[in-house]
Amino acid sequence: MKRPFNFAPGPAMLPEPVLTRIQSELLDYQGLGFSILEAGHRGPQVAEIMRSLKARIRSLLKVPDNYDILFCQGGGRMQFSMVPMNLLGAGTLSTYIITGAWSKAAAKEALRFGRVQTAYSGSGTRAPANEELEVLPESSYCAYCDNETIHGVEFPATPMLTDAPDVPLVADMSSNFMTRPVDVSRFGLIWAAAQKNFGIAGLSIVILRRDLLGLATAEVPTLLNYGVYSRTESVPNTPPVFQLYVANLMAEWIENEGGLEKLNARALVRASQLYTVIAELPDTYVSHVAEGSRSRVNVVFRLRDEALTSVFVKEAAAAGFINLAGHRSVGGIRASMYNAMPIEGAVKLADFMRDFAVRHPAKTKIVVPA
Ligand SMILES: *Cc1c(COP(=O)(O)O)cnc(C)c1O
Repeated sequence: MKRPFNFAPGPAMLPEPVLTRIQSELLDYQGLGFSILEAGHRGPQVAEIMRSLKARIRSLLKVPDNYDILFCQGGGRMQFSMVPMNLLGAGTLSTYIITGAWSKAAAKEALRFGRVQTAYSGSGTRAPANEELEVLPESSYCAYCDNETIHGVEFPATPMLTDAPDVPLVADMSSNFMTRPVDVSRFGLIWAAAQKNFGIAGLSIVILRRDLLGLATAEVPTLLNYGVYSRTESVPNTPPVFQLYVANLMAEWIENEGGLEKLNARALVRASQLYTVIAELPDTYVSHVAEGSRSRVNVVFRLRDEALTSVFVKEAAAAGFINLAGHRSVGGIRASMYNAMPIEGAVKLADFMRDFAVRHPAKTKIVVPA
């Protein structure tokens, strides 16, 4: 069976060795005669998976000792609620940096719990420079989205809150978690849904500085309280065993691939294949994302002739490149290339794009200033 290159934004491609490993031990987990899907969540197998996953995340991301690693359910969007519920504490003000749809949605949810100040509000074309960020020191935290999955806008470096250096920085890394090294000590909290780079839907990883635990007020529901996850080793109730198992296999795969520096180098090679074609063929393709903010993992672009968008998606799928349609809110094309996408997938898609431009010549020539 020849598997297509799957450019889906999430749930997304998993490495083949991870899939075959799941398949091989699905009926009989490590010689026990039963499946991990049938194992009790307080038994030794699940405890070992959770211990191993936590240790691997700590080692891959060099998570300092004063940070806790928590596993939550409810997907990425539940963190939009958990962050304000837990970090506002006695405060009433939070700050959001808006660079696209996900940070906007996060800020909107935070309005249920207090006042929200916008440190920067963009239209999904670039990440702000540090000097543009306005953050009040009384803010309980400042949240942003490290990679806007829908717009293809990624922060080239961790933002610096120069006006308010003590305000904890909170990052949604759902679509670029485990794709590059991160200095965790710069953050109050990092969270990510697993289904893009680190496994399957139904698990979110939360890495937070321990002094931020225990801020939740008494009204915060038990299962939405980070402190409860910390105290129970992320077993406040039955945890998502299959998701944790797959994430642990992903973490092991990342180790075997050489770690986060290697994965970052690979992401840069993949993305540059596509951005190069876009620059080469301005009559056919255009990116609205500013250089310096272009995502390594979600390459978003448009066809100059919008009528060709659906033709492109259809012809690409027939050629073995699936799920390239842009998000329904923005249209265009989006090539999502997470950890599991081989470089070959990007190289071959770039070839397809060149070939497509030849077969569908532009009606008008774009003059690009030198
Ligand atoms: C996918 C995604 C989410 C939402 O994840 P769900 O699990 O569907 O709630 C949030 N933020 C970003 C940046 C994402 O890419």
